[in-house]
Amino acid sequence: MMNDISKTDPEVYGLIKKEGTRIRDGLELIPSENFVSKAVLQALGNFFNCKYSEGYAKKRYYAGNRFVDEVETLTIERAKKAFKVPHANVQPYSGSPANLAVYVALCKPGDTIMGHNLLDGGHLTHGWKASVTGQYYKSVPYHVKTDGYLDLDEIKNLAEQHKPKLIWVGATAYAREFPFEELGKIADSVGAYLVADIAHVSGLVIGGVHKSPVPYAHIVTTTTHKTLRGPRGGMIMVTQKGLDKDPELDKKIDRAVFPGLQGGPHDNQTAAIAVALEEAMKPNFKEYAAQIVKNSKALAKSLMSNGIKLVTNGTDNHMMLVDLTPFGKGHGTFVQDALEAANMTVNKNTIPADPSSPFYPTGIRLGTPTITTRGMKEKEMEMIGKWIADIVKEIKDYNLPSDKEERKAYLKKFKEEISKNENIKKIKNEVVELCKKFPLYPEFDVLK
Ligand SMILES: *Cc1c(COP(=O)(O)O)cnc(C)c1O
Repeated sequence: MMNDISKTDPEVYGLIKKEGTRIRDGLELIPSENFVSKAVLQALGNFFNCKYSEGYAKKRYYAGNRFVDEVETLTIERAKKAFKVPHANVQPYSGSPANLAVYVALCKPGDTIMGHNLLDGGHLTHGWKASVTGQYYKSVPYHVKTDGYLDLDEIKNLAEQHKPKLIWVGATAYAREFPFEELGKIADSVGAYLVADIAHVSGLVIGGVHKSPVPYAHIVTTTTHKTLRGPRGGMIMVTQKGLDKDPELDKKIDRAVFPGLQGGPHDNQTAAIAVALEEAMKPNFKEYAAQIVKNSKALAKSLMSNGIKLVTNGTDNHMMLVDLTPFGKGHGTFVQDALEAANMTVNKNTIPADPSSPFYPTGIRLGTPTITTRGMKEKEMEMIGKWIADIVKEIKDYNLPSDKEERKAYLKKFKEEISKNENIKKIKNEVVELCKKFPLYPEFDVLK
């Protein structure tokens, strides 16, 4: 049973190796991703995976939870210390279930909620119509202005008009600092709960390079696998402001997670969150978080000086949104595929008032967490920005056919042509050379 996977399951092992090679030889520029430490992987890959522990510490339904209780309590204490909050629940399986638990704790089906509109950079779980959060609750979306910044006047007017029970602040594709303080005032003025979803920026918050929502929000949710650099997972924190509004809020959150939504917690994931939180409280994580933002600003500068337009003309955090309208509607798909052919992984993304559709959007989103984890700095950002700009220009003459039937064949032909494009091949080779200088995870060992 304890035989190595390379012998017991060469098929899966082969795929793990291939994925290892892919990330080793490429630049992962998707801002929601990160590479974790060996310690985090070790905490994930052990027999804590095997335990059943429904309930909370000292109140479990199964025996044998002495050490699970200790590890979960340790994780909670670390979360409380890292974010300076009085209560934390570390059991949510991921960011989306954490957000669902907040609804279950605060709202009844049919209640009114407000959130950052998906097509303006918000998350599905903040009330988008395709998510149950937009179907079970009356969702009032708010938007960004044409300059890409949140429209605080609109948020205030909508809140006064609709009197929501809960207002979300936080997003998935927003390159500027979130106005927690202003949203806190708006929520207070209408008696709403303010929930800050800092899934993307939680590592920057701990690292001190993004304002903390804790003084302004009643509840804070986060993923643990983005800038926080831990295992996939989620957490819900209740602030002192939240407890002052509702002294039962901590208990309501805990009951919503279990038994409201989930069964047994993933104890190996909990252990790995503890490891990530401890790493994030070390002084060198402050440097890491600051470097993520410095790199992001340097990459933004390089892109703009090479003729690429960014939404809001820059960034305050780890990500940026490229506005591809000068190159044609729906150009995000082309750029995503062409960059992938050069070993640079990004995601296509809508931009504010996108002239195309979410499936063929007119932007791409990129960020610097993983390349900063690899040790790259401003000098490398300058090169990467130039490569991206060169590729955008290389494919500028492709255009999404307006006839939907024609699109599939056109995109197939596009992919064939870029796979043979000599200029893109040349950039790919330069990317691979750069990656060699910043070896991924000597400690990862997946390629051995
Ligand atoms: C990533 C993200 C989530 C969801 O996290 P999953 O782990 O993918 O479920 C929720 N909210 C925001 C703002 C996010 O960026």
